[in-house]
Amino acid sequence: MEIIKRKTLKEKPAKGTSLGFGHYFTDYMFTMKYTAGQGWHDAKIEPNEPKPFDLATSIFHYAQGIFEGMKAFLQPDGSIAVFRPEENWARMNRSATRMCIPNFPEELAEEGLETLLKLEKDWIPTDPGTALYIRPTIVATRVMLGVHASTEYLFFIILSPVGSYYAHGLEPTKLIVEDYYTRATLGGTGEAKCLGNYAASMKAGEVAEEKGFDQVLWLDAAEKKYVEEVGSMNMFFVIDGEVVTPALVGSILPGITRKSSIQVLRDKGYRVTERRVSIDEVIEAEKNGTLNEAFGTGTAAVISPVGLIRYKDVDYTINGGKMGDITRMLYDTITGIQYGKLSDPYGWRKIVK
Ligand SMILES: *Cc1c(COP(=O)(O)O)cnc(C)c1O
Repeated sequence: MEIIKRKTLKEKPAKGTSLGFGHYFTDYMFTMKYTAGQGWHDAKIEPNEPKPFDLATSIFHYAQGIFEGMKAFLQPDGSIAVFRPEENWARMNRSATRMCIPNFPEELAEEGLETLLKLEKDWIPTDPGTALYIRPTIVATRVMLGVHASTEYLFFIILSPVGSYYAHGLEPTKLIVEDYYTRATLGGTGEAKCLGNYAASMKAGEVAEEKGFDQVLWLDAAEKKYVEEVGSMNMFFVIDGEVVTPALVGSILPGITRKSSIQVLRDKGYRVTERRVSIDEVIEAEKNGTLNEAFGTGTAAVISPVGLIRYKDVDYTINGGKMGDITRMLYDTITGIQYGKLSDPYGWRKIVK
């Protein structure tokens, strides 16, 4: 694969820097282009520098674009591991199909990612809880204002050294149930990691933040009755010893951390049920003392305990506002596999060769 080198490298954040999420970007990126009639072409590694775009480029107008999120971890033996990248490539192509974006060759994306990671190895942060976040994206690049699928696309992968997703780290998060705005509807794009979903969710997120909450807990669009997810995390509740997570009904993003968590929990002997969970059931369980734990799962936030949920102006504290035992076990298991501190019985660590 062609690698176009930079003249000077950027300064990397010093060890111990509070990285936050998505503030720093590495020296290089992977790119390839799609042109109708030609397919995907020009795969290469090039300097991560600003690119000029015509302002009539379709991505700016109709958001025909998708993304992914994964992480690379430096292993104790100095190798680089990516967590289940083949799952992300497959999901990205499913998102592409939903958004009328041509599918890309997954082996080529993986080769591009691995070439990029080898070149950028020194950017992988090593402080506890940090990782190199990987952001593959596809945007429509045809210069045209008609509302049609583009005939040209840019696929890119940029990398960002990150710390914890929430400013307060592993402290349990506070969620507010959103019973007016909607994230996704059946038949809509909630299942796809497409750009517009996140723009649509910002209003509710801003209102939540003003009230002192970390994120919004979304309900189903039709009845505002069933729990869906958190917008960057899938939700789990432990009710009376049973682990419950909303079934993937079509408006929920099928998280890879969710899927991995279900597998780990089942293998450890927990009963995990994927079904519809009403917000009333969750509140009722909190009231009668059977809501043992709640947590969210996602690449960015990993496993994130939920300490408080507000619904219709009433605050419900979960597990005394502390991280529960099942949440802790899951966090330790998933991060243990990711950072190479535990064995990997599932083959989830893809070692970059
Ligand atoms: C990315 C994302 C998740 C988490 O998915 P992972 O594959 O676990 O990172 C959950 N919900 C939404 C809306 C997302 O965009």
